[in-house]
Amino acid sequence: MKWRSSYLSDFIALIFPQLCQVCGTNLVTGEKLICTGCTYDLPYTNFHKQKDNVVARQLWGRIDVDMAYVLLYFYKGGKVQNMMHSFKYRNMPLIGNKLGSLAGTQLKDSQWAGKIDVIVPVPLHPKKLRLRGYNQSAQFAHGLAEQLKVPVELDNLIRLKHTDTQTKKSRFSRYENMKEVFVVAEPEKLEGKHILLVDDIITTGSTLEACGIELLKIPGLKLSVAAIAYAE
Ligand SMILES: [Zn+2]
Repeated sequence: MKWRSSYLSDFIALIFPQLCQVCGTNLVTGEKLICTGCTYDLPYTNFHKQKDNVVARQLWGRIDVDMAYVLLYFYKGGKVQNMMHSFKYRNMPLIGNKLGSLAGTQLKDSQWAGKIDVIVPVPLHPKKLRLRGYNQSAQFAHGLAEQLKVPVELDNLIRLKHTDTQTKKSRFSRYENMKEVFVVAEPEKLEGKHILLVDDIITTGSTLEACGIELLKIPGLKLSVAAIAYAE
């Protein structure tokens, strides 16, 4: 029966071709969301091989992180921007799982990733979650967690306020804007754990900073951060 189902999926693909979310070419059997060529050619940061990377430096003196990891560089007008747009606004949550899986594959043999106890995605405000239908950071977290074999904790870090787009504010006012946005509901569940805090795109780092400040109030907590992309 197997040939029948693959015949059927080839037939469906002929009518509704599945496109690569990066370059737009038709995907072939076995490829999902991103074609093989793009999977090789994405602008990987390789931050897992470079502890002293640009994101780690950006967070220096703001929050104490063990490791800062990002999968991709994000350039305006580049391939990653198209893909992230589909991911966030065209109801394609599985792009996040796919990218999480790519990140997890890079990380799973590293000593650092072996020390992670739990993955905590940056939460969306409940209203925004209802509108979009999924939290893009949580989708990435699930893909990562599957590779790293660690749990994802979804309901402990909570977003109290919805914040506006912050790109035009100074770093200080951006942080002021993020203050008191996040709260940890059950801090005792995270005591003494190494948390991997996960976001989608890092720009100024103010979201990670605001979440990190709340998480680091928990006794014995160790913090690392990861994101899909870094926009300079
Ligand atoms: Zn492609």
